[in-house]
Amino acid sequence: MSWKDILSSSLHQLLAPSTQTCLTCGKMIRSGGCGVNGFTEICAACYVSIPWITVPRCPVCGRAVGCPDCSRAGQAERYFQINRSVVQYNAAMREWLAQYKFRGRESLGPLFAQMMKLAMRGMLKELSDRSGVSRGFFDGITFVPVSEARMLERGFNQSRTLAYGAANVAKAPVLELLERSRHTEKQSFKNRKQRLLELKGVFKPVPDAAGKLEKVFLAQPYSLSPVRLLLVDDVYTTGSTVDTCALALHDICGKLGRSAEIYSVTWARS
Ligand SMILES: [Zn+2]
Ligand SMILES: [Zn+2]
Repeated sequence: MSWKDILSSSLHQLLAPSTQTCLTCGKMIRSGGCGVNGFTEICAACYVSIPWITVPRCPVCGRAVGCPDCSRAGQAERYFQINRSVVQYNAAMREWLAQYKFRGRESLGPLFAQMMKLAMRGMLKELSDRSGVSRGFFDGITFVPVSEARMLERGFNQSRTLAYGAANVAKAPVLELLERSRHTEKQSFKNRKQRLLELKGVFKPVPDAAGKLEKVFLAQPYSLSPVRLLLVDDVYTTGSTVDTCALALHDICGKLGRSAEIYSVTWARS
């Protein structure tokens, strides 16, 4: 290659910046994506279409709109403190999740994890303002398990990927603490009571769950304060999955003689 060729090829690169396809809409975009908040894989139009929940209207479940669920009289006891979600579950977000979960586009994982990171910053700020604990609020991050059949079929657990995104910001270890005995659909026509009934006995601690948690405690000075665990899932609908898993997590901590506070973060809130 002559000097002339080298010069003209680098000049060409300079004049024609490289391109990529947007991960979510498939359009040709400039390399590096929109670049906002570290989103390098999607275009600006896709980025602005994300329905972020920046100010949750419901302090309990983190819903973006007025929430009758959490304020209704006679509400059953909840086993989690609060839930926060990254986005509202609108048609566009439903499509993104479907691409990822059901159409096997695992390449969407990093985008989802990046979205979790942003939400975690907000959640940690809120919790720190409330509790005065500014660092290491969570002792561990765990996630809602999928059934073995789903794992074989899909090859990954989306909530686990999301948990790693959250853990990156929360600076806490990801612990696989629960397993799922069978698959259940999150059908939106079911109410909370029906869902709770259906989920009975579905989530159990993994055989060495207590041992995994104990290891985390050993790394800490002796403490009487409750164990704070963050549970991660993809979508919060009636809150019954969170609740059922939270109860199982309370049980694991209880067996170790520790009280627990379970917090929840999900990618979407329907
Ligand atoms: Zn796009
Ligand atoms: Zn609510």
